[in-house]
Amino acid sequence: MTARTTRILLDLKARQDADEHMVCPRCGADNMKHPLHTNALSRIADIYICDSCGSAESMLEHMNQQTSLTSWDVLKAKVPPSDFKARPADEVLELVTKTQLDALTHIFRLCRDDPAQAEEYRLEAFESCPGLTELWPEPFAAKYQAADGSVVVRFTTSADGNPVVEAGIAEK
Ligand SMILES: [Zn+2]
Repeated sequence: MTARTTRILLDLKARQDADEHMVCPRCGADNMKHPLHTNALSRIADIYICDSCGSAESMLEHMNQQTSLTSWDVLKAKVPPSDFKARPADEVLELVTKTQLDALTHIFRLCRDDPAQAEEYRLEAFESCPGLTELWPEPFAAKYQAADGSVVVRFTTSADGNPVVEAGIAEK
């Protein structure tokens, strides 16, 4: 579990302990019963979820299917606003290169060094990189849609272990 996931779940747990009314953390539906402890307890986190999510989890477990926190509504990326889709790609390329390479390099290192949690780090990328439209952890590439094309930033690792960045404009 990444630091971001832990922080969000701890905050959620505190709110649930205080019996705060909330939407279902797993599916986002406003169908949680009162009091909170009469709802289903998730099988993968110490968190109450709605009855239909409880049934879904138990069904998945019964079928030996992996169930993951990364699809939970409460863990979805809170995407900051961006006007990249209205700007020309050369402007977006300049902005990304000037303002987002540090954040992307950070996410690249996390995904490379801890690939089992890449899916969770991916969510962080969408929160720290406004305008990001797609991200592939392996091989690592980030895409930003612009008005007349898209900007793609690729990362590899050099022989001495340092991140190597390659940014350019791709077809629409
Ligand atoms: Zn639910």
